[in-house]
Amino acid sequence: MRLNIDDTFNKELPSDSNLNNSRRQVLEACYSFVTPRIPSTPQLLHVSEEMLNAIGLSEKDKLSKEFINVFSGSTVLENTKPYAMCYGGHQFGNWAGQLGDGRAINLAEVVHNNTRWALQLKGSGETPYSRSADGLAVLRSSIREHLCSEAMFHLGVPTTRSLSLMLTGDDVLRDVMYDGNPAYEKGAVVCRVANTFIRFGNFQIFAARQDVKNLKLLTDYTIRHFYPEIKKQGKEAYIAFFKAVTERTLDMIVHWQRVGFVHGVMNTDNFSILGQTIDYGPYGWLEGFDHNWTPNTTDKDYKRYRFGNQPQIGLWNLLQLGNALYPLIEEVKPLQEILDGYSKAFPLHYLNMMRKKLGLQKQEKDDSLLIQKLEKTLQLSETDMTIFFRNLCNIQKGFKIDDIDILLEVIKEAFYDDVINEKVILEWKDWFDQYLKRLKKEELTDEERSEEMNKVNPKYVLRNYMAQLAIDKSNDGDHALIDELYTMLKKPYDEQPQYQKWFAKRPEWARHKVGCSMLSCSS
Ligand code: AMP
Ligand code: MG
Repeated sequence: MRLNIDDTFNKELPSDSNLNNSRRQVLEACYSFVTPRIPSTPQLLHVSEEMLNAIGLSEKDKLSKEFINVFSGSTVLENTKPYAMCYGGHQFGNWAGQLGDGRAINLAEVVHNNTRWALQLKGSGETPYSRSADGLAVLRSSIREHLCSEAMFHLGVPTTRSLSLMLTGDDVLRDVMYDGNPAYEKGAVVCRVANTFIRFGNFQIFAARQDVKNLKLLTDYTIRHFYPEIKKQGKEAYIAFFKAVTERTLDMIVHWQRVGFVHGVMNTDNFSILGQTIDYGPYGWLEGFDHNWTPNTTDKDYKRYRFGNQPQIGLWNLLQLGNALYPLIEEVKPLQEILDGYSKAFPLHYLNMMRKKLGLQKQEKDDSLLIQKLEKTLQLSETDMTIFFRNLCNIQKGFKIDDIDILLEVIKEAFYDDVINEKVILEWKDWFDQYLKRLKKEELTDEERSEEMNKVNPKYVLRNYMAQLAIDKSNDGDHALIDELYTMLKKPYDEQPQYQKWFAKRPEWARHKVGCSMLSCSS
């Protein structure tokens, strides 16, 4: 196995001088050197072929003993020095101080085809940042992270990736719903991959400690390697950097809203400086379209991270990043202007994204009203987001509003209730009336519009119940469903008749099941 190792983070930035793996506050350092824990009987369950190729490995490598050894944490690659990163963060709106990689260990960076990839094991034992936890991960959350990272990539959503999923052979104690019922679960390790794993929280920790020297080193490093298009110097460079991160974050969240993805824990330590979706924990996909929905039961009272609040939280997190970068800029105005820019730009980007979902190419002034009315109507009775938008392409310009049954027939599959009451039907009629009139202004034929809509309205997403089925089977030793879902989710916009059964509403048994509708941060 030959990887083109090219470490920069642990070569160009200051390290913790303490080499003991003891839990502590780590000052004036970006990371601590630490060696992954050796698992007792690692077993490879799944590999992402795309990621394998992206880092320059082949099918043959995948089958080697060395692959299992390295990506389970059993052996350390020659000439590398694994490390855990130091970062802080705001958790659910409150500053939490130092957090850091408590169960993630960066192995190395590789460069292949001019792209830099950081390889990181998640679940490979304790680090100086483990606080009161064990540094381990269970199979359940590892399957969810592995499958969803790759699914998001194929959906076209900026994301960290996942190379491999392994069982460690060790049991891990978890209290899944934090209700005093701990049980042993199978331990697992995922090898996550991203250009870099630097988060908003990496900057915040230095700002909180008034360590401007290291804040500057880290920011310069990030710009040098990951925002090379920024050619300015000094203060101007930091402002441009903040602007670029803001734009990328906005873009990422518009994509989340497009596909109905709810992150679940948008803490600032879970926000990538590259604007990539990171830290797949209690995430979920909308089934019934609902602005108030969150899959995270830990957040059920305030619903801070509910679907409809994601754009606002993105801004809140950017404000925290702006605060963290302030010591390098020492001027509020340019930072405020960038944040105001987000507030102004988001509705426009959202509108254009929704236009695409509706198959509208022109920009008409009443489009936002059409979209608002749709969102309201979708929430009148439980209506599956994915199925609704996917089937909407079957509306034809020539349909008549008086034939409401024909119109409803197109979207009926998305309704969770068998019977829809008259009032709701009238609202739908009203909306279809506007939509049909609006479609008349479009030039594309029905067929062409349908093709365009299918590029942004996925047919297949990783619904929680699907991941849970794969988890249940895998826990029983049958890992085939992991590969089936992975293969299907590589082409989320294609029809794939062989997988039609996965184009389905959440089954009733999953409505209140742990892992399907209820998730916690326990992983
Ligand atoms: P998360 O909720 O996964 O974003 O984690 C928040 C913080 O807790 C991060 O610093 C994690 O590294 C840490 N953490 C989460 N789970 C564990 C664990 N099992 N062992 C050690 N640290 C953990
Ligand atoms: Mg995290």
